[in-house]
Amino acid sequence: MSGTIIDGKQVAAEVRGEVAADVAAFVERYGRAPGLATILVGEDPASAVYVGGKQRACKEVGLQGFDHRLPADATREQVVALIDELNADERVSGIICQLPVPAHLDGVELTNLIAAEKDVDGLTVASAGRLALGLPGLRPCTPAGVIRLLDHAGVELQGTEAVVIGRSNLFGKPMGQLLLQRNATVTTAHSRTTDLPAVAARADVLIVAVGRAQMVQSDWVKPGATVIDVGMNRLEGGTLVGDVDFDAVAPVAGAITPVPGGVGPMTIAKLLANTVQAARMQAGEEPK
Ligand code: NAP
Repeated sequence: MSGTIIDGKQVAAEVRGEVAADVAAFVERYGRAPGLATILVGEDPASAVYVGGKQRACKEVGLQGFDHRLPADATREQVVALIDELNADERVSGIICQLPVPAHLDGVELTNLIAAEKDVDGLTVASAGRLALGLPGLRPCTPAGVIRLLDHAGVELQGTEAVVIGRSNLFGKPMGQLLLQRNATVTTAHSRTTDLPAVAARADVLIVAVGRAQMVQSDWVKPGATVIDVGMNRLEGGTLVGDVDFDAVAPVAGAITPVPGGVGPMTIAKLLANTVQAARMQAGEEPK
């Protein structure tokens, strides 16, 4: 037996196609495209690549992109003034403040200044609260992307035993909430979990977001389980690998995401989808 490979590139392309159609329909209704504003403070090369990718992706689906760059020594007041301006700008449907910000700034504080209705990363206290209470709102992109992958793979979540390894605010916690909303029975494991391999081996759906290269081995996985690998780790020499030992686990799993080409492409696709969703909600439409 060998697991089906869940092709994140293909599913992300589907999502981008849907977003492009939704953008065109929005333009028909309102005479303008939704817009995404990115804020990059400083010249961190990796962050500049991420922001450039997001801006390029906006153009590809017809969204307006507003690319704001501030110098590394920008003051808190300058960044706050920019966020205030973007919160008030009707052309801007979504705002992201690329993290990490330089050490003299507080990324969590700045993120929380983004208006909830424009929080397309879904990371503010307001968005986390709305998710926890099951209220409509903008959901964090990577866990939302994982739900889409699971749906694409035909995985029935209701009643299933799901284990998420990792409890970060960025991924693990919202992932658990989204699985609960879909009526899975959810365990969230972390660095203090006792006998992690045994906990993981209970899972029908195992989702791993730790940041440790190839940690999950074949004896951690129930035969036939769906395995979603969120980890992105560079080995010496530069090869990108996940938190799951793909070659060892794929023969045991029922379905598995590769790294690269699994969860990674879903994050930007879901950011684009959130931007259209935000624009619709700002226009008074029902959330889709
Ligand atoms: P994070 O904030 O560092 O959180 C890591 C989590 O893993 C923590 O909850 C930690 O537990 C847990 N952990 C650490 N060592 C462990 C161990 N030995 N056994 C069990 N759990 C352990 O990381 P993150 O932001 O969630 O990201 C995790 C990984 O996903 C990274 O590789 C990141 O690059 C990747 N990622 C990818 C995408 C994407 O778009 N594909 C998006 C987000 C993240 P404690 O809470 O107990 O410390």
